[in-house]
Amino acid sequence: MFNLDWFQLFNSLAYSSGIIYGIICNLPRDIRFKRENMLYLGLLPGPEEVKLHKINHYLSPIVDELLEFWDGVDLPSTDLHPTGKRIRMAVICCSNDIPAARKLCGHISALVGCHRCYKIANISGRKLNYGGFDNMTEWFVQKDLNKYLRNAERWRLCKSKYERKKHVSKTHVRWSELLRLPYFNPIRFFVVDPMHNLFLGIAHWIVKRLWIDGGKITKTHLKLMEKRAKKIQVPVDLGRIPSKIATGEGFSGYTADQWRSFIMIYATPIMWDLLDETNQKILANFVRACTLLVCRIVNKSALLEVHYRLHQVARLIEENYGQEKITPNIHLSLHIVECC
Ligand SMILES: [Zn+2]
Repeated sequence: MFNLDWFQLFNSLAYSSGIIYGIICNLPRDIRFKRENMLYLGLLPGPEEVKLHKINHYLSPIVDELLEFWDGVDLPSTDLHPTGKRIRMAVICCSNDIPAARKLCGHISALVGCHRCYKIANISGRKLNYGGFDNMTEWFVQKDLNKYLRNAERWRLCKSKYERKKHVSKTHVRWSELLRLPYFNPIRFFVVDPMHNLFLGIAHWIVKRLWIDGGKITKTHLKLMEKRAKKIQVPVDLGRIPSKIATGEGFSGYTADQWRSFIMIYATPIMWDLLDETNQKILANFVRACTLLVCRIVNKSALLEVHYRLHQVARLIEENYGQEKITPNIHLSLHIVECC
């Protein structure tokens, strides 16, 4: 599994560096992300994030090596394996936050259109959004891979910056060096990562943007929630949420893990009676979808329910808050089940 992530090197200075790394999916998942088992493929020195197709300069040498691994590489002999061992390797997915994955795979920004289906962002209303579910059967169809690949190739033939720009706004596709891998499918392999999508994306959006900014949850409510949260005792391995729910504009600096604990353990008992019936429905559907998805083993009937619940969340938000509140993340959550 291929990953790209950005991090800040210093506390007091905006200096973004990036790392491209690989995870070996054959390993059991509890040791996959141990430092000694990760493959460090490239370091992007910064100080700013690499823009758009310029990521290809970093990808190119990595892809050369991946091509060798696809054909097969002989590991040297050891005492345990005196004849050595021939291994092959393929990238099976890219799992990152959405902007990073779009750069890797050559897709246009999530604000313009979906990379998996034919949904295009609406420009009606004050800002771009993914609202409008009535004609879902028309656009909720997987994109045509061959057309995508043809358009990516054509991007390479563009002769000027202007021509490339025109090509991207028409086709939504750029060239990515990863497309040199004969098996790579930039639509299917670019999965929607539930951690970014559900916890850092939608949970944050519902609680902060819809409820706190929308005045459904007031400062007094936040203080009450904080008081209630302090009374909940959770097992040590579950990760307590920071007790400061009411500080600042609410939920300051929550990590993905803390949003997960908040949604799955705290949200229902501490805020249920503060919400009206519609928002209770949004919360209940969202909590249920998350609860099913974080199970170690997820069966197909559970996935059907997840899709139904996430679809309900999206529709309820649209009906009650308007279509401009349907963010790219809310749309992408409809693809989580097919990614699973
Ligand atoms: Zn889509």
